[in-house]
Amino acid sequence: MQNKLDDLKNRLQEIEDLNSAGAVLNWDQATYMPPGGAPARGRQMGLLSRLAHERFTDPVIGHLLDDLRSYEESLEPEHDDAALIRVTRRNYERSVRIPPQLMANFNEHAALGYQTWTTARPADDFAAVQPHLEKTLDFSRRLADCFPGYDHIADPLINFADEGMKAESIRVLFADLRAQVVPLLRHILDQPEVDDSCIHQTFAEVKQRQFGEMIIRQLGYDFNRGRQDKTHHPFMTKFSLGDVRITTRFEEDYLSNGLFSTIHESGHAMYEQGIDMKYEGSPLAHGTSAGVHESQSRLWENVVGRSRAFWGHYYPQLQATFPQQLGDVSLNTFYNAINKVQPSLIRTEADQITYDLHVMIRFDLELALLEGSLEVKDLPEAWQARYQSDLGISAEGNRDGVLQDVHWYAGVIGGSFQGYTLGNIMSALFYRQALVTHPEIPSQIGRGEFDTLLGWLRENIYRHGAKFTADELVRRVTGGELTIEPYIAYLRGKFLE
Ligand code: ZN
Repeated sequence: MQNKLDDLKNRLQEIEDLNSAGAVLNWDQATYMPPGGAPARGRQMGLLSRLAHERFTDPVIGHLLDDLRSYEESLEPEHDDAALIRVTRRNYERSVRIPPQLMANFNEHAALGYQTWTTARPADDFAAVQPHLEKTLDFSRRLADCFPGYDHIADPLINFADEGMKAESIRVLFADLRAQVVPLLRHILDQPEVDDSCIHQTFAEVKQRQFGEMIIRQLGYDFNRGRQDKTHHPFMTKFSLGDVRITTRFEEDYLSNGLFSTIHESGHAMYEQGIDMKYEGSPLAHGTSAGVHESQSRLWENVVGRSRAFWGHYYPQLQATFPQQLGDVSLNTFYNAINKVQPSLIRTEADQITYDLHVMIRFDLELALLEGSLEVKDLPEAWQARYQSDLGISAEGNRDGVLQDVHWYAGVIGGSFQGYTLGNIMSALFYRQALVTHPEIPSQIGRGEFDTLLGWLRENIYRHGAKFTADELVRRVTGGELTIEPYIAYLRGKFLE
């Protein structure tokens, strides 16, 4: 049995290595590659993902999993070997349903789409991406159709990102959340408008970058096992547990963008850096779902990084970094500026109250596209209409409208966005639980000390990697099911104070 397990582990390591090599190419494409590299890069990434897919769907893997079933059943479900076999089988049964050629064609398509999007967005040129997006929709439907028996065509795609979730369960959760958030938003907007001009001055990029790196180093992001580079759309990527990278972007006339996206991505990265090294090279060495991943980026970005306690400690240092801009600006003014609630066009820059409304718009549009009730050519108009009805604003053109997020252009349509709001909900759920054990955490944050919080997150969430699903993790950590209540309580506590 040990030989079979070793054989499986060796094969999985090779597949992880192929995928990691693909991730390096992807990271390079998004950071330093000249535009001329795009066609070959798409092909190269397509090849690597096809090789990985072929190896993983090799019937030998299926036979090994069959042979290991009795061993798995002899173990406690929490045993590492049992978890490895279980998670591998789940991934295997999913992967064998997708024809390798479909996967390769899709990956090549997605890589080209990324490149098209990087020029189409600045040029405000939806027409340039429309034919691409029509193919993406077709690919997305074909991928979903590899999993017949779904209730909604988006379900298999949602399940890729957030195991166990379905269109209907998310619709219900989002409707409950909307019912709480919209009145809260109205109440806040009835108050006098917050002056946030202090964060809209000129802040030299190099200083922004230094300050951001200082912050995330103190939060616990390990630069010996990571680095930060610039990109169009910030992301975190991992080549091994010893190399977890983040990317960011800066706007010299808007301090929040670079600062909070840096903290956000470091949250994703600390999750991956915190995975137990013994899972290296296996399917367990990954964050468990899009939602849980986002719960960590949002916890560090918002619950910690946008808290009063945090800036009580760091604001004097920020003032010292930008004395001309912030020397005469009070902590209170700054705190209110970085937490200003105002309907806006860009999801990644949205405040904590309107953020989930941005996500819900995208979620609904994805479902409509997949259902066929919305055509790609009508997407920009539908986008504008929803921003008008939900947030009371609309963009001029599509640059800051339907072109703003990379997801649909470099990935599937379906399952791409719900994880952000699931993450918000879980961030409050997990944080509340951490405070039950460690009520001293907020005062530690006020001293720039994060070891207790990071240690709790590592112990309860990070080290497990993909061993537990999101549902299992929530149950283990809180003893109950996913609920929006702590998140609503958190938002009300913060924004009605
Ligand atoms: Zn994120």
